[in-house]
Amino acid sequence: MKTRGTIYFDHQATTPVDQRVLETMLPYFTDRFGNPHASDHAIGQSADRAIQDAAGKVAALIGATAEDIIFTSGATEANNLALLGLADAAAAGKRKRILISGIEHKSVAGVAYVLMTRRGFKIEAIPVLPSGMIDVDAFQSMLDDTVFLVSAMLVNNEIGSIQPIERISSLARQAGALLHTDAAQGPLALDMGAIARWVDALSLSGHKIYGPQGIGALYASRAIRPRLHPILFGGGQQDNLRAGTLPLPLCVGLGAAAALLSSASARDERERLRRCRDRFVGGVLGLDWPVYLNGPDLDHRHPGNANLLFYGFAARDILAALQPRLAASTGSACTSAVPEPSHVLRAIGLSPAQAEASIRFSLGQSTTDEHVDEAIDLIDRTLATLACGGLVAARASVPSP
Ligand code: PMP
Repeated sequence: MKTRGTIYFDHQATTPVDQRVLETMLPYFTDRFGNPHASDHAIGQSADRAIQDAAGKVAALIGATAEDIIFTSGATEANNLALLGLADAAAAGKRKRILISGIEHKSVAGVAYVLMTRRGFKIEAIPVLPSGMIDVDAFQSMLDDTVFLVSAMLVNNEIGSIQPIERISSLARQAGALLHTDAAQGPLALDMGAIARWVDALSLSGHKIYGPQGIGALYASRAIRPRLHPILFGGGQQDNLRAGTLPLPLCVGLGAAAALLSSASARDERERLRRCRDRFVGGVLGLDWPVYLNGPDLDHRHPGNANLLFYGFAARDILAALQPRLAASTGSACTSAVPEPSHVLRAIGLSPAQAEASIRFSLGQSTTDEHVDEAIDLIDRTLATLACGGLVAARASVPSP
């Protein structure tokens, strides 16, 4: 299936809502509507049961229980709640350092910046190897009893690198530091069924997992809950940790999306996706153009992710020339309006010119081998057109990685 005639290779920016998720949500807009906090009547009570059921499904995805889940508006808010909410409680303590990986999403890096400039925390970037993996030795040497929190994303949204969270967790725990992971891109990439035991807090997003936009969740372990302060104040919903009426259909949708990803078929879908992605990467690298794969090798990355460097071309020219036939992006959709080379690609050692010659392709549930072959052909013809038209930018100044 194409999306309105476009081959959609931008699933890491957002996924369509799965039809089964949509069908589960629909009654909650009308017949089964209700304010889950209106505990005085049966309609409110039934809405609350639906919320508890959804929380249980989200929790099952990560090996937690319903009481550990706080619904938020998305992963951005979950990341804000984790970092700001935990920092509030730590303000009086002696641990004042926060370590974040150099490839974090802006919703972690941005909050860390606020904690540094307004709350006096010391923020340090954990170095990342050219493979997109955290440099574990460097990380270990940064840890001591002054580190209060480590935030390391599970799966990167631009290069798809999957971090060794168990190893990161045991090192952080030995040093007595808390561990938060932004796992917004995790559920499509790997089985997260036991991850809750390794982390203190974890962020999820509905629209990265075939659920609706505008909903996400923060998992906060029982141990850290007393140390988590709210960042939204009001009606005291969700155990006083996140005020605001819960959006019943969206919560149900997130639960339904999580349940699909907890099922046995999710593993098969990951394998299918990996085969499509490998076919795509093999096809593009096999073209008669200088193209390179950025970041980890194919076995250590999100099965739908390919980040490719088109030596001598400008990514924006390629993407513009591909419209409206193929949708991909220069990196994080949240930052692609900002004319700066990707901080993720810079952190793994690419020059600004190399970063600006790179495109993220992210394949998904609707991707078929036919789409892949058509995309490879489109890319080939687009590069030929751009090269002929003299649009190849600064060919000599873009060294290969
Ligand atoms: N973290 C990661 C890794 C992401 O990819 C995104 C979305 N680009 C976010 C956080 C923000 O998620 P949301 O859109 O749900 O706020």
